[in-house]
Amino acid sequence: MNTIIKKTEVNNIDLEVIKQASDILRDGGMVAFPTETVYGLGADALDEKASAKIYAAKGRPSDNPLIVHVADVKQLEPLVKDIPDNAVKLMDKFWPGPMTLIFEKSDIVPSGTTGGLQTVAIRMPNHPVALSLIKNSQVAIAAPSANTSGRPSPTTAQHVENDLSGKIDMIIDGGAVGIGIESTIVDVTVNPPMILRPGYITKKMLEDVVGDVEVDKAILGKMSPDAKPKAPGMKYKHYAPKADLTMFRGEKDAVVNHINNLVKEGIAEGKKIGIIASDETFSMYKEGNVISIGTRSDDDSIARNLYAVLRKFDDMNVDVIYSEIFEDDGLGQAIMNRMLKAAAYHVLQV
Ligand code: AMP
Ligand code: MG
Repeated sequence: MNTIIKKTEVNNIDLEVIKQASDILRDGGMVAFPTETVYGLGADALDEKASAKIYAAKGRPSDNPLIVHVADVKQLEPLVKDIPDNAVKLMDKFWPGPMTLIFEKSDIVPSGTTGGLQTVAIRMPNHPVALSLIKNSQVAIAAPSANTSGRPSPTTAQHVENDLSGKIDMIIDGGAVGIGIESTIVDVTVNPPMILRPGYITKKMLEDVVGDVEVDKAILGKMSPDAKPKAPGMKYKHYAPKADLTMFRGEKDAVVNHINNLVKEGIAEGKKIGIIASDETFSMYKEGNVISIGTRSDDDSIARNLYAVLRKFDDMNVDVIYSEIFEDDGLGQAIMNRMLKAAAYHVLQV
């Protein structure tokens, strides 16, 4: 398959591009498009054959359901059995935005889109290109991250092209995304609501709107093989760079010294080594391929760079990656959730 790649400005959208992409979606094809979180790989959520193509293109396990993207609440209503009060409050506050809600699904949503579940995950993205595509096509768009399953999520059109070129119909290039980390998934079929995947919207932000919020225990630490997280996708290997990634916990200078020593040893053995530093420590590393993931004074910068840094080490073909660890509160919880998975929970105390 020849993948069409078309660019558009975000603030001056090329409607010809949107029209072409809309035609593809209505014909049951696949289009990758930017959202504010990561790039999504979209197809018609109500067409079981179309959503099946997404699983094939990504190599995604068939029990890992897709998130359905809508442009307004009117489009949501026919997809769900009911809209609980907590959902209304959260939607008012955070939609369009990086929050996905789990509802009881209506009969028109095929179980092929929901991985066999009776619930459906729905989000209204806050990105002009995504909203324009949903509105123009009038399609509720099922769209997981537009990467090969298991790899770091895509934050640029180039990342999508690297993974899926030749496998999908079209990529809309709207530049680098703003947030860089996936949506927070909140189950509103239960009371209190429960976070199934941490994301850009933090527990505290949700609690300010609906009071108590719980967190699915299965996502807090390393998962045992028989754990059943409520978001099925959380049990799979995810976000992983090609090289083994190890994270180091400890006081700043001690961590830097420890990594510097390991890098020296590794280089002596002929290894190519990647280091994930922060702006605060970047200049303290003596050797190796050092990339700063952002500044510790601004978690947003770390979220934005996270996946691109992991992919850059893939491009450089490093043998191992050593990383500092980051604060585990607020947005840091989502950052560490992704990094720990990328590292297969390999964390050493210094
Ligand atoms: P992705 O779009 O690639 O970020 O993955 C979507 C995530 O949403 C996966 O972790 C899924 O398991 C989760 N998800 C989608 N639908 C549901 C649902 N009905 N119930 C629970 N989790 C869901
Ligand atoms: Mg994904």
